Amino acid sequence: MTNGEHVVEIVDGRFCRAVCSCGWQSDARRMRSSIRELADAHLEEHAQLAVINLTDPSAIELVEERHAATA
Ligand SMILES: [Zn+2]
Repeated sequence: MTNGEHVVEIVDGRFCRAVCSCGWQSDARRMRSSIRELADAHLEEHAQLAVINLTDPSAIELVEERHAATA
């Protein structure tokens, strides 16, 4: 499944954290593998939201505005 609007990067620091291009951030975790799980869960959640948005045009606009603002 492709999802061009959500690009998740894993940021390493004292703890790892996943940061998405949409502004979402995961909790900080020590284990990179658990960060990947959080990132996958986020992407899956948005894949489902994208389907819901197709039946609600106003929701699509909100998403697009948010992405335009961060670009
Ligand atoms: Zn996202």
